[in-house]
Amino acid sequence: MSYLLRGIAADGGIRVIAADTTALVDEARTRHRATPTAGAALGRTLTGALLLAHVLLKNPQDRVTVSLRGDGPLGGVIADAGLDGEVRGYVKNPQLSLRPREDGKLDVGRAVGSSGEIEVIRSHAPYGDPYSSSLELVTGEVAEDIAVFLARSEQINSAVLLGVYFENGTVAKAGGVVLQALPGADEAALTLLEANIRALGQLTEAMRRTSLVAVLEELCWGLSFELLTPTGLPLSFSCRCSEAKALDAIAFFSPVERDRMVAEDGGAEVVCHWCGEQRWIGADAIKSLSGDEIRCPECSTLWYRQGQALMVRENETCACGRPVRLPN
Ligand SMILES: [Zn+2]
Ligand SMILES: [Zn+2]
Repeated sequence: MSYLLRGIAADGGIRVIAADTTALVDEARTRHRATPTAGAALGRTLTGALLLAHVLLKNPQDRVTVSLRGDGPLGGVIADAGLDGEVRGYVKNPQLSLRPREDGKLDVGRAVGSSGEIEVIRSHAPYGDPYSSSLELVTGEVAEDIAVFLARSEQINSAVLLGVYFENGTVAKAGGVVLQALPGADEAALTLLEANIRALGQLTEAMRRTSLVAVLEELCWGLSFELLTPTGLPLSFSCRCSEAKALDAIAFFSPVERDRMVAEDGGAEVVCHWCGEQRWIGADAIKSLSGDEIRCPECSTLWYRQGQALMVRENETCACGRPVRLPN
């Protein structure tokens, strides 16, 4: 079971958020059939998004999306998390296989690439526009990129530790910690914290030798760590895809293409890119789509369907250049 812990240290000067995400990262690896290098990049980003949700969000319905688009062969990694502990995510190239670094560690930095950008989007449900900010990548190792994002974009000084440890192709340990310096934090306390972080070494190594709470006590040694969530908040890999959304995706195909799906395959398989879930949509469901839709007479792009406007504002132009006109 994956879980998240919150705590404080240094008389409230340091905020601690930590997660053991071993189970959910291994589920993500299985769902996406990811190699260790791709799985490590995905696992760090999933964990980072869960921690960021607790740093940045206030409303339980809000969500944060973290996207790293680097120039490496991974082709990008994205994760989406909320305060409810649910997270989902994917990498563009889950089959990527890279030789480990000389020190034996998975080369996430090279997979992601150090040139590109990190984007963090906060969406406020059910109302309000999403708020997005982006910054150049620093190393592509994910943790550093999130820490620098927090410092430059949010003026939040923090240390971010993220790790995914593989054994025999499966995730044996995964987790992360954010140590956030709150305004007015004592300088001596922050100096001690930095020394403790250096002394800890690799996060997943520490998590393999002892419990997550004990790791936090080591990180906050001499800073009177106080755990605020004794039982831990449950975390899980969870997607919001559904049969209805899969059918929506099929609606974008033209009636001719859909007829072909029915005639040749008797239906269509829709794979959710967020979670890898495969859904078979049968012929009857596909046939039910016809009727309530209005399409461009030129290029048959879907304009409108069953009460949901896809592209209906006046002066809007279709992909083919034709002005959109809906019949009254
Ligand atoms: Zn899904
Ligand atoms: Zn058109």
